[in-house]
Amino acid sequence: MPKRQAIQPAECLECGNARSLLGNCTHCGSDAVPHATRDWVVLNLELGAPTAEDALDRLTRHVRGASEVGIRTMIVIHGYGSSGSGGKIKWVVRDALENNYFSDRVDEYYFGEDVAFASSGYHDLLRRRPGLKEHLAPFKVGNAGMTVLLMR
Ligand SMILES: [Zn+2]
Repeated sequence: MPKRQAIQPAECLECGNARSLLGNCTHCGSDAVPHATRDWVVLNLELGAPTAEDALDRLTRHVRGASEVGIRTMIVIHGYGSSGSGGKIKWVVRDALENNYFSDRVDEYYFGEDVAFASSGYHDLLRRRPGLKEHLAPFKVGNAGMTVLLMR
């Protein structure tokens, strides 16, 4: 399977290259907080088939990083919660949200299955984040494999 090129959501303030939100710039090694080049980001927690614990840790770091650079919306892909090693990721993510684990940085969240095309949740979400329209359009019947986080 060909590896899909990740679209980097930020730019290094020191060398100007596109970079990820977290860690040092891979181009110049700068550890300065980067400049976000857009206000949304997609985080795929299934990449690399991590344990649920590692996925939650990764989400925690990304929520913090995204919050620091002013990202307003994070689309978290966590899979469908089916059986198997990766199946637990969805449940730890949603459990953490429901227990206000990220409430200092996440204002509100929408489960993918609640924002099915043309549903009331869909319209509600688009009122708050009109720019998400192109990302939600493919989910005609809702997508239980993702959760949308609205950052504070
Ligand atoms: Zn750099």
